[in-house]
Amino acid sequence: MKSHPPDVVNFNVTGIESYTSTAFRRLEYKTQVFVNHEGDLFRTRLTHSLEVAQIGRSIARNLGLNEDLVEAISLAHDLGHTPFGHAGQDVLNDCMREYGGFEHNLQSLRVVDVLEERYAAFDGLNLCYETREGILKHVARKNIPKLDSLGERFLLNKRPSLEAQLANFADEIAYNNHDVDDGLRSGLITLNQLEEVSIFSRHLTEVKEKYSVLPERRMVYETVRSMINTLVTDLIQQSARNIKDAGIDTLAEVQTAPPLIGFGQQIKKEQQELKKFLFDNLYRHFRVARMNNRARHTIEKLFAAFSSEIQLLPVKYQKKFEQEGHQAIADYIAGMTDRYAIKEYQRLFSIAEN
Ligand code: MG
Repeated sequence: MKSHPPDVVNFNVTGIESYTSTAFRRLEYKTQVFVNHEGDLFRTRLTHSLEVAQIGRSIARNLGLNEDLVEAISLAHDLGHTPFGHAGQDVLNDCMREYGGFEHNLQSLRVVDVLEERYAAFDGLNLCYETREGILKHVARKNIPKLDSLGERFLLNKRPSLEAQLANFADEIAYNNHDVDDGLRSGLITLNQLEEVSIFSRHLTEVKEKYSVLPERRMVYETVRSMINTLVTDLIQQSARNIKDAGIDTLAEVQTAPPLIGFGQQIKKEQQELKKFLFDNLYRHFRVARMNNRARHTIEKLFAAFSSEIQLLPVKYQKKFEQEGHQAIADYIAGMTDRYAIKEYQRLFSIAEN
């Protein structure tokens, strides 16, 4: 990965500035769980990222952490995602197996470091070290040598900043809750099923006791809202306790301490139960599996076509291929929105007029 310019001038934590970056705007048309054209009501990676930032900011404010940094990490954390959610990322990783693989975390970093073209003087967005560290949640060991000093913490088993740890939890709080909401709205999961899940049923009961007559949609909103409130409150209280008990004063101490941002025991258990429920009932639902199957097929076909005939790539990527090989194809595909990938598939494989 290219070395990064200094962060002194044009300090830009968010990559948003007065303009949003290209990759950020594309998030609107990238899937979280549902394929983008399934309906306008479902979350996309854009609305997800905004929710993560909102949740992250409130927690940061309460813990006295750097709100801007949490917001920047939250808004950028999914920039490297392929079209079609996790199915897209898995299949691109399979396609890239012989060429170093594909990791969405690393790709998010690549977007802000290299792929965005906003400045005359350099590639990327000129983000500060702490934002970049927060974006790179994980990285496979084999890819560490591709990184600058950012990779070191994985070798030394050091923790990232509290803001980075926090953004990670804000991500989890956001997707668990909006997947419950979208899952219900889509009809893939039902209220009856969710009543078996302790954190949901506990909050639903409270809402029903407080408001005896409520339309179902409002009841769901109120339940999800109060679940988020419980999770945020628990995370703030437990993390504040962890930081105090560990006697943390400096960033160096954060790096060598066990993870300091976290839920209390009960919520941790309940979150695991909710995750398992969503995994079994939503992410593995046959309708989701069918969407994933189409996604897999689309990306496999695109990758295979570009690999076997480089001239099918737009000229810019043909040039990149000469220098970077298959990474150029991965960059092109990963940068696509869901609808662009579908269109591109038609342009390559359909004989009908597109
Ligand atoms: Mg996310």
